[in-house]
Amino acid sequence: MRYERNWAGNYTFSAAECHLPENLEEVQALVASSSRLKVIGSRHSFNGIADTTAAHLSMERMNRILSLDRDQNRVTVEGGVRYGDLCSYLHEQGYALHNLASLPHISVAGACATATHGSGEANGNLATVVYSLEIVKADGELVTFTRDDANGEFFGAVVGLGALGVVTKITLDVVPAFNMTQHVYEGLPLSEVRNNFDVIVSSGYSVSLFSDWTDTTFNQVWLKQTAPAGADVVPGAEQFHGAKLSGVNLHPVPGQGADHCSEQCGIAGPWHERMPHFKMAFTPSAGEELQSEYIVPREHALPALEAIANLREDIAPLLFTSEVRTIAADRLWLSPCYKQDSVGFHFTWKPEWEAVRQVLPRIEALLEPFDARPHWGKLFTMSAEQLQPLFPKLPDFRALALRYDPEGKFRNAYLETYLFTS
Ligand SMILES: Cc1cc2nc3c(=O)[nH]c(=O)nc-3n(C[C@H](O)[C@H](O)[C@H](O)COP(=O)(O)OP(=O)(O)OC[C@H]3O[C@@H](n4cnc5c(N)ncnc54)[C@H](O)[C@@H]3O)c2cc1C
Repeated sequence: MRYERNWAGNYTFSAAECHLPENLEEVQALVASSSRLKVIGSRHSFNGIADTTAAHLSMERMNRILSLDRDQNRVTVEGGVRYGDLCSYLHEQGYALHNLASLPHISVAGACATATHGSGEANGNLATVVYSLEIVKADGELVTFTRDDANGEFFGAVVGLGALGVVTKITLDVVPAFNMTQHVYEGLPLSEVRNNFDVIVSSGYSVSLFSDWTDTTFNQVWLKQTAPAGADVVPGAEQFHGAKLSGVNLHPVPGQGADHCSEQCGIAGPWHERMPHFKMAFTPSAGEELQSEYIVPREHALPALEAIANLREDIAPLLFTSEVRTIAADRLWLSPCYKQDSVGFHFTWKPEWEAVRQVLPRIEALLEPFDARPHWGKLFTMSAEQLQPLFPKLPDFRALALRYDPEGKFRNAYLETYLFTS
């Protein structure tokens, strides 16, 4: 068995085979007997982060929810669990996660390993609710990192890009279940965003601004709010900073039907059926696509937005859509939001890599004065020399990885290039 490509189909893996262990002992034996190995999650990254020329190890058969601790408000899952399955279980049990990405299809371990995020001023990325990780390290032995550990290594291990070993178990903080509504507004003028950015992005629990940059208007604003208990429908205001409330469900990519999208129009529903833009049972986003995202410190949000607006005519022909989201600061060493509230500028590109590859360096050059950090799992063109200074804890991370994987068993070309070559 081998995985040939990633989810989007834009990246062909070089792995000769893929192991699918069914229990911890098998994982340990596989790791101990291999000289090189790379864990693969649900394959939703767009670059070579999960590739290897040796063998893949997939945790997809180890996808059980192990325990729910109602005293500590924590859930423990195996390394192959996907958010969609975990969220349904948690909701049935009366619990929720604080935030979700745009899609529920991704694995918890893979998403946390790359600092995957959703939106919301007060919401850190998905890895910020990790309480502990059990990892099979290079010698096949187990190590557990916990937020309470005195040595602080936990904060390096969580956004680990798979460099420390195989995450076999994760414990996450949970909160009481809640309902949410989603309202979508159309036609938010860029001038309104310029003048009222802070007000706009703090208008909901989670706010996403979408633009295809064909003009200087944000096509859509997705406003996700917590709903009062017992409410079935919460009417939205007719106007939002000049944008008009949509009376029908919309897809963030202009022209695409909304069947795949989570329910809108103020209809209240469980948190996990409103926070992601896309439903679990359907293909998320455009499908055949490319993605890039640059994360800048919050104080640079407006000049960064201006820089992107100035490139509008060059990027619009290549775009399905782009999305602006806020992410709260965290303490995770390789998180792009390490110690800084941030804004993510995301691009969903048409599958035209040759053209996208020409435009990415221009975006990166324009965002360079704002310390823009690339999303680890999406496409970027900046060099290791440009990237490394943007992650101040990278030398500590490198030392941590070398402690647990001295021979580089879990490294691949991506990790060698961006983390280990200085
Ligand atoms: C349609 C679409 C929408 C997206 N939306 C968002 C979004 O809203 N926000 C956002 O931030 N990102 C988003 N992404 C990006 C995505 O969340 C990340 O690429 C994420 O890492 C994918 O998780 P995965 O399980 O597919 O990991 P993979 O891509 O398979 O692997 C990513 C990394 O995780 C490591 N890994 C995976 N499992 C383990 C494990 N058990 N132990 C150790 N290491 C492991 C791999 O080795 C690799 O280094 C989106 C991607 C797609 C395709």
